[in-house]
Amino acid sequence: MSAPVIVVHYHELWLKGRNRRFFLGKLFSALRQALAGIPVERIEQPGDRLLIRLGPGASLEQALNRVQHVFGIAYYAVARLVERDLQALCNAAWREIEPLQFATFAVRARRSDKTFPHSSMQIESAVGRFLLDKLRSESREARVQLREPELTCYVEVTPGPLLVYARKIPGLGGLPPNTAGRITCLLSGGYDSAVAAYRLIKRGAHLSFVHFYGTGARPGESSLHVASGLARVLTRYQFSAKLYRVPFEEIQREIVRYAPEGLRVLLYRRMMLRIAELFARRDRALALATGDSLGQVASQTLRNLAAVDAAATMPVFRPLIGSDKLEILEIARRIGTYEISSEPFHDCCPVFLPRAPELSANPEELEKAEAALDRKALIAQGLRGATLEKFAYADGRVQSHEPRPVVHEGRHTPATHASGN
Ligand code: ATP
Ligand code: MG
Repeated sequence: MSAPVIVVHYHELWLKGRNRRFFLGKLFSALRQALAGIPVERIEQPGDRLLIRLGPGASLEQALNRVQHVFGIAYYAVARLVERDLQALCNAAWREIEPLQFATFAVRARRSDKTFPHSSMQIESAVGRFLLDKLRSESREARVQLREPELTCYVEVTPGPLLVYARKIPGLGGLPPNTAGRITCLLSGGYDSAVAAYRLIKRGAHLSFVHFYGTGARPGESSLHVASGLARVLTRYQFSAKLYRVPFEEIQREIVRYAPEGLRVLLYRRMMLRIAELFARRDRALALATGDSLGQVASQTLRNLAAVDAAATMPVFRPLIGSDKLEILEIARRIGTYEISSEPFHDCCPVFLPRAPELSANPEELEKAEAALDRKALIAQGLRGATLEKFAYADGRVQSHEPRPVVHEGRHTPATHASGN
């Protein structure tokens, strides 16, 4: 028997534009990267689908698991390849459905190669009749039902081989990785920002992450390993990622010393945005992203979000702005960030939390509160202490390098020259 073949169907939507070749190329290379380390004979593109021909010794289960993590796929299936002959097609369809249990079934044919001498309807009725006869000859009670059958046997007539499969597996949807440009995401270690990141990667963005951490955590309780764990999970979907790790406690102390208590958290956020923006410029990202959701906590009232944003010069995206916590947690569980975010860790923000946070700040008020701070110096200090951890996906695993300083002694990265706003 020949090695298994996986047929991959992409979303039709992004096919319409002139970008079709671009998107397809990206999906193609994403599949290549996802499958690295598994013997793949080749990936073909007969018509509007991709065919992954696994090589000898490849684990089908492993390959399916890799395909399951690639964005831009509507559905996929393990298909039987059939020579271009109706009888061969009937036999293959029978082999495909024989081991399955069902009371009703239908055959659905799609002919994207019109040179095949039988129309879709002719294929459907010929294969359907053949299967029905076979079932009867085995005294099985199944009947044809075109509407919502329990089992559908799919036939595809491609410009290459004919395909038959009965088990269609839903893909992740979204757009192929690395098609939308770069975004810098503020990754806290909590549930929300990791899910926000996932949402954006799903739309084809390539993310870098910035994490602000407090010092003085007990061993094993630092938020750094949590942020690192989240970045690792997310890297799987985009194949590489950077995590900037910025010590934040000194900056917080300055804010606590000089600014009104009720504004502290908002001022922390503004400093976070400013520093993240510098990394964003360094990476040529065009926007920032956070995990805020409207009204979730005091710092996330509409007025507060708007007042915080006034410190940024780039767009700040908040993919979860309209999501409930329960919806967010459900995604976190599904993508595997829930357990990591659930680990106890020393979050920098609850330290020095105000007793009565402002709910309705405005940008002028925050500007004024910051007047006593030496913002440039604080930002420079954050940058000096910042380290960069890089992640890369290879052979089914995410590897990371030992974190390195971002700013080297005596040599500044372009980031430090950008305006501190
Ligand atoms: P999350 O669950 O992602 O931590 P949250 O509900 O706890 O979100 P906040 O702590 O108010 O909300 O943070 C709002 C957003 O600000 C986060 O989603 C994240 O994008 C950003 N943020 C907060 N703290 C940090 C941090 N220490 N490092 C990086 N980003 C942060
Ligand atoms: Mg948080």
